[in-house]
Amino acid sequence: MGKRELGPYPGLRYAHMVSKDVHSSHVVRRFALHPIDIERPEKGRRVEARECGSCQKPLKFKVLSVAATRSRRWVWLVLGLAGVAAALGFGVALFEVGGQVVEEGAPNPVGPLVLGFLAGFLSGIVGLSYWWYEDGVRGPGSPLMSFGVHVLRWPRH
Ligand SMILES: [Zn+2]
Repeated sequence: MGKRELGPYPGLRYAHMVSKDVHSSHVVRRFALHPIDIERPEKGRRVEARECGSCQKPLKFKVLSVAATRSRRWVWLVLGLAGVAAALGFGVALFEVGGQVVEEGAPNPVGPLVLGFLAGFLSGIVGLSYWWYEDGVRGPGSPLMSFGVHVLRWPRH
């Protein structure tokens, strides 16, 4: 849990992709990790640019205050738990409906239930992963998705 503690500086690092080797079954990407030396503001957010330590390209970062980061985490957590709860609810309903015989011509209730289950499941996963990764930092790429050379990453322990 140590990595999720909120210090005066972001715990996230930014990474510059050094190389990308495409093998037949997998892709190996190597990154150079650099700290984000932007102090968290007292309140609100701070937007600053830093030169990438690897390629000197200017990168824009947005760093949120401790309070703002905490409230983001709450939002993600609530969204994630609501999603999990919805998925459970729809799952139970599906289980009950699954054993029933639907009369011909009557609308089939399974479709909407499956959709509800999937929607809940997805927002549960997204909410909880963002809750876990949220460090109040926005920059090039997110820790969860990245398509470019730069990405935010947690340092490995
Ligand atoms: Zn770079």
